[in-house]
Amino acid sequence: MSFFDLTLAALHQQMAPLHVSHVHTLWRAIYREGERQPADRQDFLPPLQKWLRTLDPLFFPEAVHTIPSHDGLTHKILLQLADSAQIETVLMGYPGRHTACLSTQVGCAMGCVFCATGQGGFTRHLAAGEIVSQVLHHQAILRQNGQGHLRNLVLMGMGEPLHNYAAVMAALDIISDTRGINIGPRRISISTVGVVPGIRRMAEENSPYNLAVSLHGATQAERARLVPVAKKWPLEELIDTCHFYCKKTARKIFFEWTLIENENDTTEQARALSDLLVGMPAHINLIPLNPTAGYNGAPSLRAVKFKTILRAAGFPVTIRQRRGIDVAAGCGQLAANCGQLAAS
Ligand code: SF4
Repeated sequence: MSFFDLTLAALHQQMAPLHVSHVHTLWRAIYREGERQPADRQDFLPPLQKWLRTLDPLFFPEAVHTIPSHDGLTHKILLQLADSAQIETVLMGYPGRHTACLSTQVGCAMGCVFCATGQGGFTRHLAAGEIVSQVLHHQAILRQNGQGHLRNLVLMGMGEPLHNYAAVMAALDIISDTRGINIGPRRISISTVGVVPGIRRMAEENSPYNLAVSLHGATQAERARLVPVAKKWPLEELIDTCHFYCKKTARKIFFEWTLIENENDTTEQARALSDLLVGMPAHINLIPLNPTAGYNGAPSLRAVKFKTILRAAGFPVTIRQRRGIDVAAGCGQLAANCGQLAAS
C-alpha cells in the first residue's frame, strides 16, 4: 500500500501513535502544497519524519510520453507505474479552467468493439493511490505553469471505473477532501459502460459524484453488438437500474452515445433512444466516433439531425467538441470521451 492509498481517516489510524495535529499538516502539504519530500520537513516532529521514511519513497508515476494537441490545450500523458505498467491520463484546458481525464485500470475487460483500450484487453486494476497520483501529476503541471487548479475530473480513461469500485471510491474520497485536493463531488463524473451492480451501489450509497452511462444502442441486439457487456447486463435491466438511481438520488444521468455511421445514427435509432429514456432525467451526449485501428466503423455525419430529434423529444443534448482529437488517435476513446463530458 502506498501513502496515496490512504484516506484521511486511514491516515489518522496509521499515525495514531504520533502527534495527531500533524496529520492535517501532512495531508495539506502533500495534497494542497504539492510537497514531494515530506520526511525532510523541519516543521514535522521526529517520529513523523521517521514514519515517513519507513514508507516507500512517495511514488509519483513518471511521465514517459506527453503528446500536446495541435491547439496546445490538451495533453495526453503516458504515465509509468511502479510495476512498469503504463496508463494514459489527459489534461484539458478550457478558458479559466482545467479538466483531467483519469484511468482506473490498466487495460479494460469490457471489450467495447470500437475502443482501442478494450481491444487490448485487461491487465489489472489500479490502486486508489495510482488514481490519486494522476491528479497530483496534473496539479504539478498546472502549478509549474502558474495555471491554477484542476476544476473538473472525468473517469473516462482506460478502464471501467465501476469494475474497480472500491479503489475508485477511495481515490475520490481523497481527491474530494476539502482539506487537500478539494475537487468537489459535483465536479467529478464517473463513466460506466453499464455495470449494473455498480450503478445500483452508487444509488444505494447515495454517491455524490455525477454518473455517465454509455449506451450506444437503444435495443438489446444493437447495443450488444457494440458493447459485449450488454450480454451480462441486458439493456432492460440497465434502464431499470438507471430509473432506480434517478429516483433514489434525485439526480440526472448523462447518457453517452458514440455515433457511428450506418451503425447507430439513423432517424429511427434517435427515436428509439428518446423512447427508451422517456421519463428519465437525462442529458444525452453525442460523441462522433474516434476511429481506432481495430474497428472499421466511421464517425457519423448525422450528429446534428440526431440531436434535433432528441431535442424535439425534450432531452438536453450536447455534441462533443472535436478538440484534442489529434491526441486521441490510436489510444482508444480516452481524450475523445473526456472532452465531450467536460464540455457539457
Ligand atoms: S470504452 Fe471504456 S468500458 Fe469500453 S472497452 Fe473502452 S475503456 Fe473499457
